[in-house]
Parts: sequence; structure tokens; C-alpha cells
Amino acid sequence: AGQSSPSLEPGPGRTADGHPVPLLTNVGSGPDALAAAATDSEGVGLLRTELLFLDRAVRPSVDEQARIYAAVLAAFGERPVVVRTLDAGSDKPLAFLPLGPEDNPALGVRGLRTSGANPGVLDEQLAALAMAAAGTGRTPSVMAPMVSTAQEAAAFAEAAHRHGLTRVGVMVEVPSAALRAAELFEVVDFVSIGTNDLGQYVMAADRACGPLGHLLDPWQPALLDLVAMVGAAGAAAGKPVGVCGEAAADPLLATVLVGLGATSLSTAAGARAHVRAALAAVGMPVCRERAAAARSARGPDEARAAAAAVGPDAV
Ligand code: PEP
Ligand code: MG
Repeated sequence: AGQSSPSLEPGPGRTADGHPVPLLTNVGSGPDALAAAATDSEGVGLLRTELLFLDRAVRPSVDEQARIYAAVLAAFGERPVVVRTLDAGSDKPLAFLPLGPEDNPALGVRGLRTSGANPGVLDEQLAALAMAAAGTGRTPSVMAPMVSTAQEAAAFAEAAHRHGLTRVGVMVEVPSAALRAAELFEVVDFVSIGTNDLGQYVMAADRACGPLGHLLDPWQPALLDLVAMVGAAGAAAGKPVGVCGEAAADPLLATVLVGLGATSLSTAAGARAHVRAALAAVGMPVCRERAAAARSARGPDEARAAAAAVGPDAV
């Protein structure tokens, strides 16, 4: 008692057969980022920038944003940092980005879609990130939320490139983006799967709707099918496929996601040790077998049980 088991010791993410799976952290504040940087976190897989500015009536200046992003980049040093542009709207309204009333805000103007009416906000954010990159000598990755089409991804990549940002990705959290992932990889360097929203949209179940929790279970085979499509497209393109939704924080599901083609996982800081231990216990063949078993199931409970039954030390 009082001593952590050896399998929960710090270190990089890797499977038992030595396949690296970087374990990154989701952060939503400066203090979160600094705390994570002081640990064995392998980087930031998702900086939720909208959470930095939830309380603002006036939009933060380029200089202020640049200072915040530079602090995060500096804290992580050589480790990768993925900055997500503002995911405003729906469950995360920003006072300085008025979007007007909508009957279905989750299906409305949110995330990258807000840049249509407010191109200046995205442009300033990209300028701030470029400034932070120049000031720290680091190369951040930047990605857009709520991307539905490759055309949107291409427009975002162009905007980022205009600012000199060279590592550009998009989130895959809309089923259309997963279905056409191969097209996304033609225009971006990486993707990160947001299983929270991808689950919401593939099941047509509001992620905040308690009574629909069973539909929002991240073990839903339909969600796993979409993850598999993205994983296959990423492998074909030779480009990274991260997962940054809550699904990545479930240790058993983390092994399934890797089996489906995820190349890195980003979680809340507290989940990392158990995810690392789950990956260290199995090789890639078991991850793939678990993935196949889960996808063959008829529902989330069956998927969980089927995955748990596979492996040298079935869980
Ligand atoms: C997601 O949708 O899974 C995600 C990581 O983004 P957020 O939870 O911030 O919408
Ligand atoms: Mg999301």
C-alpha cells in the first residue's frame, strides 16, 4: 500500500511489442498546461483555446493570445503541442463571438464554421500562434474543430500556411469527415478524432442529454467503425491519426483505438497512467484483435466484453 504498481510508473506510451503510442494531454487553461508540462506527458494533443477565453466580453488581442500560446510552447519544449482554433458555439458560447439564436446549435454555426461570418477572429488567432512560434523557436501544430468537408479543411490549411504555420490538421468529429478521411489527408498533415462529438453526431444524440447516455457510449460499434475508417485512411496516407475525445481515457478502449489505427492518444492528465499500463500489457496483434472483436459486437456492452476477452491477460 502507498506504493504505485510498477506498471503505473511514468514513461512514454508504447505497446508491449515496442510500438510507440505517444500519450498526450488535453488542456484548457494556462495552469493546466504548466502542470502537465511538469509531468511525463508527451505533449499537448488538444489545447482547447476557447476555454481560455470563456469569460471574455471583448476578444483577446493578438499580443495577449501570442503570450499565452508562447508560454505553453515554451513549457513543453521539444514535445509537440497541438493548438485547436476556437471551438465556439453550441455548448461553448463565447461572448465576443455572437452567433445569434439557433434552434439546433450543435448543428449550427460552431467551431470552424464561425469563421465564415468572422474571418478576422480566425486570422488573428493564427497570427498569434505564428508569433508565439517565432518567439519560442517551436513549431506548433494547429487544427480546426468541426470540419465537415475536405474543402473546409483545405481552406483552413491555406489560412494557416499564409501565416507560416506548417503543421496543419483538422479534427474528425463529424461523420462526413470520417467517411471521406482520405480526402482530408490530401490537404492536411494529421487528424485528431474527437470521439465526444463524433459519437454525438453519428448517433444523433445530444452529448449533454443524460437520458441518451447509452447511445453516447464510446463503445458503440458505429463509432468504432468510423474510427477504423479514419485509421485506415491515415495508414494509407502515412499520416498521424490522434484521438483526443474521452474514449482515449478508457484503458481498454485505448488499446482498441490503437488497434483501429490511432497513432497517439490525448487524454485528461489523470487518465494517462492507466492508459499507459493498458498499452504496455499488450502487443499490436492483440490491439487489432480487440478492435475486430469490438466492431463485431452488436452493441456497446457486448463490444466491451468482447474486447476484454481478448489477450494474454484478458481484462
Ligand atoms: C471531441 O469532440 O471529442 C473533442 C475532443 O472536442 P470537445 O470535447 O472539446 O468538443
Ligand atoms: Mg468536439
